[in-house]
Amino acid sequence: MFNYHKVERLNIPQWEAVYRAELVPGVISFIAIHDTSRGCALGGCRMANYNDESLALTDVLRLSRGMTYKNTVSDLPLGGGKSVIICDPTVVGKSRENIFKEFGKFVAWINRDENLYSAAEDMNTTVDDMKIVNNYTSNIFGTKIDPSPYTAYGVYYAIEYVVDYFSLDLFHGERTLEGKRILLQGVGKVGLILLGLLIDAGMEVYVNDIIKDRVRSTKKKYSNIKVVCQKDLFNIDVDIFSPAARGEIITQQNVDNCKFKILCGPANNQLQNHEAGELLHKSGIIYCPDYVVNMGGVCSIKYLEIDGLSTEVTLKKIKQTVRKMLALTFRTAIRKNLSFNIAVDHAVRKILRKTHADHREVSNSKIFPLTSASLFS
Ligand code: NAD
Repeated sequence: MFNYHKVERLNIPQWEAVYRAELVPGVISFIAIHDTSRGCALGGCRMANYNDESLALTDVLRLSRGMTYKNTVSDLPLGGGKSVIICDPTVVGKSRENIFKEFGKFVAWINRDENLYSAAEDMNTTVDDMKIVNNYTSNIFGTKIDPSPYTAYGVYYAIEYVVDYFSLDLFHGERTLEGKRILLQGVGKVGLILLGLLIDAGMEVYVNDIIKDRVRSTKKKYSNIKVVCQKDLFNIDVDIFSPAARGEIITQQNVDNCKFKILCGPANNQLQNHEAGELLHKSGIIYCPDYVVNMGGVCSIKYLEIDGLSTEVTLKKIKQTVRKMLALTFRTAIRKNLSFNIAVDHAVRKILRKTHADHREVSNSKIFPLTSASLFS
């Protein structure tokens, strides 16, 4: 039985609910529910060795708000939430099992009256961890499918679309990917599948990864790729840079070194801050916002795992949504003369304001139903 006395509710303005619980002695977890006006919040559970609790809290707040934005641009009936567990991620065996058992009970306790938050795997948590969680709560996703291929397809659709959209400005009207040069950083779960799609499209691909063995096996599979070492990352002349490894790759300090025309990849939080985005914009580089480009993963959880749609329909919906949201971002940026990172946030906030207004209307109509009597009295 979960000891709910171990749960504390924190009052954080602009977040619907934030909970803190001690799962097992010394292991603290936070669950942050940012916004449920579109539906139950969905966001992964991250495990990390934060130096102190306040850093974990800051992270879960930032990430949960990010999920509201991501689920909104993905046009999903889902809200934004996230969870973190403060623990050495290399913990194994019975200790790990106990942590995820208690986390499962924590998630179940939060959802006891209504569906507020569903978890999924994330950084340093695995499908096996989530299977343990699933023994205690049904508010868990990502245990049945691997979202990575869908993320890769979403990125590919984004690359196709941005090249087409800006073909006159950047490529003398050449609208196809054939012959265009792209640098792909990271050939992991998403990067490797994306690489296959880019090669099939006839692109000239440059690849970089810190794991030498991975580069070697990739080169063996795709002999026509060109390998780029770390120090040359910003020296080579390409049309597109696609980060598929880590975040904060573009900083205020390195923007001047960027030689590419388009930044479009799956990595989360590619810009170190908004200022880096402003500088990219001033240098004429088109930035396709990461949380639009990498929406394929979360979309696949909703369409395949929750709704049981086919792969074909799922990919079609991902393609449509990626294109629609990039078009909205580009239009907003051009019309309002905003950088692309700011433009996408504007567009999302506009959609959210409408969702909140609709939500209030529905809530009010539940309290004061609009019956014919109330209409005419
Ligand atoms: P992964 O861990 O499978 O692959 C990452 C690859 O990047 C690895 O090959 C790793 O060696 C390489 N790498 C790490 N640091 C590097 C560096 N400094 N320089 C060069 N290479 C480096 O991860 P993934 O699941 O393929 O995800 C890639 C990115 O996309 C991550 O930023 C992730 O947050 C984001 N993302 C993934 C998904 C998904 O469905 N997997 C969904 C949304 C966003």
